[in-house]
Amino acid sequence: MSPHHSPADRHLDRADAAHLDAIEDDSRHVDLLVVGAGIIGLAHAWHAARRGMSVLVIERDERAVGASIRNFGHICTTAQAGLAREYALDAREEWLRVGSEAGIPVRTDGTLVLARTAAELAVLEEFAAGRDDEVRMLTPGEAASLAGFETPGLLAGAHLPNDLRVDSPDAVPALARHLADIGVQFRFGENALEVTGGFVRTTRAEYTADSVVLAVGHDVDRHYPDLAEQTGVQRCRLRMLEIDAPDGIRTAPGVFTGTSLLRYDGFASTEAAARLRAELTESDPELLEHTVNLMFTQRPDGRLVIGDTHHYATTLTPFEDEELDDLLLDRFHRLFGAEHLRVRRRWRGVYAAAQSGPFLMANPEPGVAVATVTSGIGMTTGFGLASAVLDEFVLAPHRA
Ligand SMILES: Cc1cc2nc3c(=O)[nH]c(=O)nc-3n(C[C@H](O)[C@H](O)[C@H](O)COP(=O)(O)OP(=O)(O)OC[C@H]3O[C@@H](n4cnc5c(N)ncnc54)[C@H](O)[C@@H]3O)c2cc1C
Repeated sequence: MSPHHSPADRHLDRADAAHLDAIEDDSRHVDLLVVGAGIIGLAHAWHAARRGMSVLVIERDERAVGASIRNFGHICTTAQAGLAREYALDAREEWLRVGSEAGIPVRTDGTLVLARTAAELAVLEEFAAGRDDEVRMLTPGEAASLAGFETPGLLAGAHLPNDLRVDSPDAVPALARHLADIGVQFRFGENALEVTGGFVRTTRAEYTADSVVLAVGHDVDRHYPDLAEQTGVQRCRLRMLEIDAPDGIRTAPGVFTGTSLLRYDGFASTEAAARLRAELTESDPELLEHTVNLMFTQRPDGRLVIGDTHHYATTLTPFEDEELDDLLLDRFHRLFGAEHLRVRRRWRGVYAAAQSGPFLMANPEPGVAVATVTSGIGMTTGFGLASAVLDEFVLAPHRA
């Protein structure tokens, strides 16, 4: 097949183009071939390049436009539990490292959690008691001051200072550019059609590699349907909106509310979480019905990214009720105590979800590793997951 530059190559600067050219000169064999240029694919490329491996990333779109650029950019280390917490702690260090190397702004303002009911406060207090070095409880005055706005009925707050934040639509392409600068090769606009041990055929070319990592997010079933079915991987769709900040508020940390306390395992595993769930079932069942996580982050230009709802299916219906955006906007009206919220942009995001656990890491055949985050925390954990996948599925088999 003839070598071909996709139009997407134009998105890369000259330094990147030099790396792209390199693949045309050699035998199209690399140590590691990564399919997917979302955060999970890029995290694998980052770790592999740092370990001295030659790496090629193949992405079907002209640039990554999946979950990794549609999210809050919230690196929510503190509220994780178990393996997710381990990966999140690793990932936090990597974000700080790559941020400083690549000039990607990584905000270190943490997360602010607002408690507006006694049940929410009880979850926060129980969580804080077990993590007193990572959580600072706040009076209503302190919480309002950190939030930058007064919210009706505020009882207390908590600051999680270790959490980070990036602006994903800028950070993810900036990470790809940095990887190109350190020698990672990219082929955008090539859909991987066939992936087998050490071999990938795309819509434009064929490649061989010592190892392949499939980092295609929720599309893992397009390549390994049995694996996806056995592990119960579905698609989860989220609704997101971008609004003008009411009264021009500036809120440095990411902001969580009561629903977030049911969403992240660190909070949700407290005993008090059961009471909060019962309370919400009574007081605002719609939030539970649509698995709402009412949270926001602020973009560098001041707009707020607000969300979100969660709906799960293997094949998602294309039809969506406008009432869901109304629901989100109504609850944000209440949070901000604002008369009017001006919506600037709306979008949907999809990520992989599974009841079986937060990660799908598998070796469906020799020479291929599958790496998918199945719980909507890929920005938080991706770098940690990638390091583990490389160790276990890519490097260990070659050592044996
Ligand atoms: C709305 C929303 C909000 C979120 N908020 C947060 C948050 O604040 N914090 C957090 O930690 N996580 C958050 N998440 C989750 C996080 O965004 C995901 O876990 C993460 O982005 C998944 O990364 P990924 O690389 O696996 O997937 P993606 O970003 O979807 O990337 C997969 C890539 O693979 C490519 N691809 C697929 N098939 C092929 C093929 N055959 N050939 C070539 N390329 C292919 C796709 O084009 C895509 O670019 C959120 C997710 C959404 C949707």
